[in-house]
Amino acid sequence: MSPLRLYASNCFQWFKCHLSARQPKGGIKSKTRNEGRIAHRLAAQLLLGKIDAVPVGHLLDDDVLVDDEMESGVMGYVNFVRALGIDPRAVTQVEKSLPGDPLGIRPVVPDSTVFTDGTLHIIEFKYGFRAVSARENLQLLCYLLCMIGIKGVPNNTEHVKFHIIQPRSFTTNSVRSSWSFEVRQIAGVAESIRRSVEAIKSGSTMSKTGDHCLYCTNHQNCEAYYRMVGDAVEIAENSQFSRSLAKDASCYIVLRRALSIIKGNFEMLGSDINDGIWKGKRYPGIVGYQGKSHAHWTDRKVVSILAEASGVDIKKKEEIVTPLQAKSRGLSSSIIERFTEVKPGQLKIGLLNAKEILNGTTERKT
Ligand code: SF4
Repeated sequence: MSPLRLYASNCFQWFKCHLSARQPKGGIKSKTRNEGRIAHRLAAQLLLGKIDAVPVGHLLDDDVLVDDEMESGVMGYVNFVRALGIDPRAVTQVEKSLPGDPLGIRPVVPDSTVFTDGTLHIIEFKYGFRAVSARENLQLLCYLLCMIGIKGVPNNTEHVKFHIIQPRSFTTNSVRSSWSFEVRQIAGVAESIRRSVEAIKSGSTMSKTGDHCLYCTNHQNCEAYYRMVGDAVEIAENSQFSRSLAKDASCYIVLRRALSIIKGNFEMLGSDINDGIWKGKRYPGIVGYQGKSHAHWTDRKVVSILAEASGVDIKKKEEIVTPLQAKSRGLSSSIIERFTEVKPGQLKIGLLNAKEILNGTTERKT
């Protein structure tokens, strides 16, 4: 059996499904994760005064380009933390590992905390696309519990405020989600988290499927997961999904849940459903569509030569890869357009919502 992986960051999984705490090492590698890692590193370096500015245009580990979007996201978070800690009496801590965590949850490293005017602020920077709410956020509650348990919380703390800064979130209009409360208010959920940790440590392998499975790397060892995916496929293939069914809220919710599981696991299901969709096979509530295209420079040398020819003095010309970067350095838009290649967007899978289904929508516009 794999060793326990009781991380604060995946608390939302092991809190619901104890078996997921035994998932094998290694997460899903993705471009977004790499970008998130670099954005966090730059933000911490800025807050700790190790660098003065975001190195826009540089390629960092694993060829991640630090672009204008990353600069704006990182600076949004950094400026928020700086503003909270502006009072000279405020105590700001950045990526400070909490020693001696009494619950056994590791690692316990909040992105940043600021204690000011009797309020402890715990701030988490999210650079992914999934919207995360600060309200009763289990990851931040784990941090707080560990801080309380090891007396890492200042004595006079009465109020706590959680903040999630998420500049790229798809599904929220605000880049910040905040939640304030008094420490005594979380006694109930704190006790539930403690009980979960104790049960897991004493050998509980209770499994519970749900949306949280999408982020679990334990699929291969999990019978419950395969049962759930099998059921979901069966529902999707056999269902006569109709307008009347869509109006039935309970059926709709069950089907949506099944479809969201399928959507998140195309790779694991093999290529059958994926191929089927691109060949025109209809699955209720799912649609295949072409994603948005992105414009990229194709030849950095050309950009460099053009910059010189047009008399624009640009430092590190070879690092300009997007039209936006070129524009921000003063290169003419008409020149940029001539040497920009528009690449077709990737094929994507989308889920129709109830309104789209009722309106008979089957296509997504890019
Ligand atoms: S796949 Fe789902 S049910 Fe299985 S261990 Fe992971 S979270 Fe639990």
